[in-house]
Amino acid sequence: MTQYFQNIIEAISTTAVSFGVTFKHLFTKSVTLQYPDERWEMPERSRMRLYMNWDDCIGCLKCARACPVDCIHITTTKVPKDFDGLGETSGGMKKRLLVEQFDIDMAECLYCGLCTFPCPTDCIYFTTEYEHATYEKGELVYDYAPVPEQLKNDVYEAIEEEKKAKEAARKEKQRQKTKDRSESSDEDNDQEA
Ligand code: SF4
Ligand code: SF4
Repeated sequence: MTQYFQNIIEAISTTAVSFGVTFKHLFTKSVTLQYPDERWEMPERSRMRLYMNWDDCIGCLKCARACPVDCIHITTTKVPKDFDGLGETSGGMKKRLLVEQFDIDMAECLYCGLCTFPCPTDCIYFTTEYEHATYEKGELVYDYAPVPEQLKNDVYEAIEEEKKAKEAARKEKQRQKTKDRSESSDEDNDQEA
């Protein structure tokens, strides 16, 4: 019988304690954000989604070489010396390579930051953008090379022109060599006669 009343007292007291905790939180500031209507503001140096500013990329591949999981894929094309269409980086560095492909696979990324340190133009960096969840893994491959079609065509044309000029120079050199050789053999024949 005593145990019976003890259980009742215990039930009442624990209920009172739990209601006390609930009641206290009615008057404290809520820490839960109503996502997606409300969002956390991320710390300035947080490592969320990587970004690459194509306008400042010189295609040196240092970031890709530093990546321990090879999740940066870059394709570049060397432009002829006299081609000025690529312009300069914001720091005044002349661009000599057309960066045609620059993909980062964020599904593979370790968020280690090793790619950001060697970049000579500081154009690859972490952003505070953390909302990149997706149903398709393939959608986590980000393409950061928005190459204008016209620029691509101009580069290919310039490369073709350079090839033709080189071929013409090679043929001219060959022709000159043959001419020199035949002239010197004519001179030898004259001397022998
Ligand atoms: S943060 Fe690390 S794993 Fe991710 S792309 Fe850069 S080097 Fe590669
Ligand atoms: S290190 Fe920087 S400049 Fe070089 S390829 Fe990577 S992003 Fe471009």
